[in-house]
Amino acid sequence: MNFLQSLADRERVFDFLAPAASPVDVRHGPILYLEDVSVSFDGFKAIDALNLTIDDGELRCIIGPNGAGKTTMMDIITGKTRPDAGSAWFGSRHDLLTMNEPEIASLGIGRKFQKPTVFEALTVFENLELAMAADKRILPTLTARLTGEVCERIEEVLATIGLIELRQAPAGILSHGQKQWLEIGMLLMQRPRLLLVDEPVAGMTEQEMERTAELLTGLAGKGKQSVVVVEHDMGFVRSIARTVTVLHQGSVLAEGSMERVASDPKVVEVYLGVEGEVA
Ligand code: ADP
Ligand code: MG
Repeated sequence: MNFLQSLADRERVFDFLAPAASPVDVRHGPILYLEDVSVSFDGFKAIDALNLTIDDGELRCIIGPNGAGKTTMMDIITGKTRPDAGSAWFGSRHDLLTMNEPEIASLGIGRKFQKPTVFEALTVFENLELAMAADKRILPTLTARLTGEVCERIEEVLATIGLIELRQAPAGILSHGQKQWLEIGMLLMQRPRLLLVDEPVAGMTEQEMERTAELLTGLAGKGKQSVVVVEHDMGFVRSIARTVTVLHQGSVLAEGSMERVASDPKVVEVYLGVEGEVA
């Protein structure tokens, strides 16, 4: 093994074992706090005085009609879009509006986009391994010798996402649902504190949806992850939701239990009623 490689191994193990340099502080408040956040695109207010608070370990569902601002909200949290006004805090210590995308990601905010972006030619195991080293651009990844700790973490994540048996399968042969789980697993390799998940069950079978509900509810919890799920499928939201936030025209229209928001006349009018989804 050459020097660079052994250095790479050491650094990866160190990264893996070390706590985040400046961990999120949730002792006295929420893990995510958005206050009066607004952003306009060409004079159109996509986000309009948005207030949102996510508690540590919470699983929150965000619903709302197309164009409500759900994706823009995630763009703001992850630093992709800078708001015109307002504040955004990760715990009480980190002002997200002073940080760029990689800095925010390294704080432990992981985002899963709607389409799976796994590496199809690599095995499930290799995809997870690569995710662990994702921010080590210049260092060897797949060729590096795996340390016990990294292997353990991969096994742990494989169990969480239910792909133990498929660890040596090329990701290309996975079903759509399994690819989505693998991608969630790739995010988990970095031990995120907050996971943002955009429409996870679109295109999934009924059985895959059930499994995804179990996975997401299992991930959320104190000392584990906080999870924010944007989802259109009302059956799915109903099956996992504790608190539901309804976005409309860039701000919060209603918030509460699924039963409560589903029977709110404002919600029925702008969203659920239109879709004929209120049961
Ligand atoms: P949702 O995800 O809830 O469907 P979006 O956040 O994607 O809604 O969009 C909110 C509104 O902002 C939409 O009207 C959309 O067209 C507009 N919008 C989003 N991003 C941009 C952008 N980069 N430039 C211009 N308009 C945008
Ligand atoms: Mg969207």
